[in-house]
Amino acid sequence: MNEEQEYHEQLKRMVDVVRRYGISDARVLNALSKVPRHLFVPENVKENAYDDSPLPIGCGQTISQPYIVALMSELMELKGNERVLEIGTGSGYQAAVLSLLAAEVYSVEFIDVLFYQAVERLKNLGYSNVRVRCGDGYEGWKEFAPYDAVMVTCGAPRLPQPLVEQTKVGGRIVIPLGDYHETLQLIRFIKRPDTSLEREYHGGVLFVPMRGKVEEKTED
Ligand code: SAH
Repeated sequence: MNEEQEYHEQLKRMVDVVRRYGISDARVLNALSKVPRHLFVPENVKENAYDDSPLPIGCGQTISQPYIVALMSELMELKGNERVLEIGTGSGYQAAVLSLLAAEVYSVEFIDVLFYQAVERLKNLGYSNVRVRCGDGYEGWKEFAPYDAVMVTCGAPRLPQPLVEQTKVGGRIVIPLGDYHETLQLIRFIKRPDTSLEREYHGGVLFVPMRGKVEEKTED
């Protein structure tokens, strides 16, 4: 077996693990099985690319565990025609998965080195429906709002208000919330017709912290 075939076998096993953990959305499992995760991680951790664990991607950041990528993707409830926003591009892996689940993906990354790498990688791999911006995701990406669903892939102490404003009625916001020193709670908010938010809890998760404006004490 050559290297690419070996990676492909590992990818199939990774998707089986995610399925066994309870992810049942066929579109999510299919998207996961199409994205070559080994091309989104640094050379020195490539061997572990298909383990069900987070991995370092440089700049002190991590690519999330495949099961968590799948769970958060499933919670977005995408059918294929949506416009979605991701905060925390990182390696671009989650954005690539979302690009196979929605029509348009907008993603914001805070760290310029990671931003440049992700843009290059997504372009080279042909994920042409993903657009990436470098900046503070606290502000969302107003130019292309409103979004059908929003995913935040860094942990925040509170839900940034601009993200709520940029979500359509009926839209979902999936975000790990909580105190940085404790386990975060994966939460899905659904925007009701009266624009209030319904809140659901989806378990404890670990994420690198969101930087920038959200760290300031004052409300907006
Ligand atoms: N989704 C990524 C993993 C994200 S790790 C992947 O698939 O690889 C969290 C990312 O959030 C890091 O890259 C970090 O730099 C970024 N981040 C932290 N604070 C941010 C902010 N305020 N706005 C945008 N991105 C932020």
